Amino acid sequence: VFIAFEGGEGAGKTTQARLAAIWLRDHGYDVITTQEPGATKIGMRLRAMLLDRETTGLSIRAESLLYAADRADHVTNVIVPALDRGAIVVSDRYVDSSLAYQGFGREQPVEEIARVNEWATGGLVPDLTVLLEVPPRTGLARLSAPADRIESESQDFHERVRAGFRALADADPDRYLVLDASRPQAELSREIQYRIREILPD
Ligand code: C5P
Ligand code: MG
Repeated sequence: VFIAFEGGEGAGKTTQARLAAIWLRDHGYDVITTQEPGATKIGMRLRAMLLDRETTGLSIRAESLLYAADRADHVTNVIVPALDRGAIVVSDRYVDSSLAYQGFGREQPVEEIARVNEWATGGLVPDLTVLLEVPPRTGLARLSAPADRIESESQDFHERVRAGFRALADADPDRYLVLDASRPQAELSREIQYRIREILPD
């Protein structure tokens, strides 16, 4: 079982992914939590390059490809091996982040980014994607360590990202659980648990 958490900056993806993993472990499941970008050795190098894009003038296509490269390595070296041994994989970000940020946010053709990522991942799609929706202003205000983030992007960029995530969820409602991330943390994790229960093997 593969579960991805998606959403904009400061939505609480990391927190909710962790809470879901703890809950699953309490129920006896073998679970790994992982994240993008930067879950593997090469991924950590790619993450450093990606977060430094302004100093290097990284081009948009190269950025999209580096995210896809990070993901390819993540799928091959972390996600697939865990799934193969029967573990539940909980990932903080996955393909939808590239569609939302590089596609909608940077206004690149979303179908092309999707195609690159389909190849990069060998077509691996999550069983469930939890989208935590937060207005960009609220999310950005929540960040405590903005230095490591893309908060320098415009408000319009973050609005496009948010609308992009929403469009992706609306296009494939069976795979998504869309939640208002401004709700109390405990309520959110309970809703996530209900939904995860539906996709678990007995
Ligand atoms: O989720 P995390 O904060 O670790 O993401 C690191 C940064 O990379 C964030 O600022 C996020 O907006 C950005 N990002 C991106 N495109 C992606 C994934 C993440 O611009 N596909
Ligand atoms: Mg996070």
